[in-house]
Amino acid sequence: MEIILRKSNSILNPSGGGSFFTLNPYRGCFHSCRYCYSVYISRWHKRKLDEWGKWVEVKSNAPEVLKREVKKYGKGHIFISTVCDAYQPVEEHYQITRKCLEILAESDFSLFLLTKSQKVVRDKDILANFKNVKVGFSITTLNDEIARIFEPFASLPSHRIQAGLELKAKGIETGILINPILPYFTEMELEKLVEEAERLGFDFIGFDTLHYIDSFVGGRVREIYAKFGNEALNRLEYAKAPGYESELRDTLKQISAGRKIRVEFNF
Ligand code: SF4
Repeated sequence: MEIILRKSNSILNPSGGGSFFTLNPYRGCFHSCRYCYSVYISRWHKRKLDEWGKWVEVKSNAPEVLKREVKKYGKGHIFISTVCDAYQPVEEHYQITRKCLEILAESDFSLFLLTKSQKVVRDKDILANFKNVKVGFSITTLNDEIARIFEPFASLPSHRIQAGLELKAKGIETGILINPILPYFTEMELEKLVEEAERLGFDFIGFDTLHYIDSFVGGRVREIYAKFGNEALNRLEYAKAPGYESELRDTLKQISAGRKIRVEFNF
């Protein structure tokens, strides 16, 4: 594991025009999920793709830079995070995410924070002070054993759900993102995932598909699928078919019809 301290010139990255920004307190991620598409940033940092999960850059001056940029931009919407998990293990020591949240809580920015870590509960008091905040827990399965295979160093799904309930209890808008829907594995549980999210009183449930099946990411994922046999492998292959996403969307619409929970599609 390699930790590199870096100074950044900017921390709010304008994205998609308008007043939408992404914020990454770190680059790289020790959670090391096998399907992670952020692996491709390795190239910008002269890293080999298979080193993903073994290095993290800590943006050590992020809070100072953020203070400046919050003044500069005034208001907008921020998404944390795209190329790391803001609550991966290094956050416990460096607390870059926490310091950034302290600044944002005093600002006119709204926030969407997505994580696979239960450690976000440490900051529930700060999050509760935001005027406009949503927290999403990214989950691919309710099965802790399967999760360990695909997401070896993230919090277990059962712990993420528990953390989500703690945030809900503080009055924070909290939901589940089924992200990515792993062909075969997540597909078997889709109805159960929606039912559980609704039963537990989460505010929303969102969905996204697995990206880059025909690439380095797909190769890593395929190695795991191969251990589960042909049925799993065939389903992974089918996820590349042109009609796959619309079929999946139809299934999800059927599953979600008439439910109280807000349902969002990201594909
Ligand atoms: S937690 Fe997110 S950023 Fe980190 S390895 Fe997993 S998918 Fe990638």
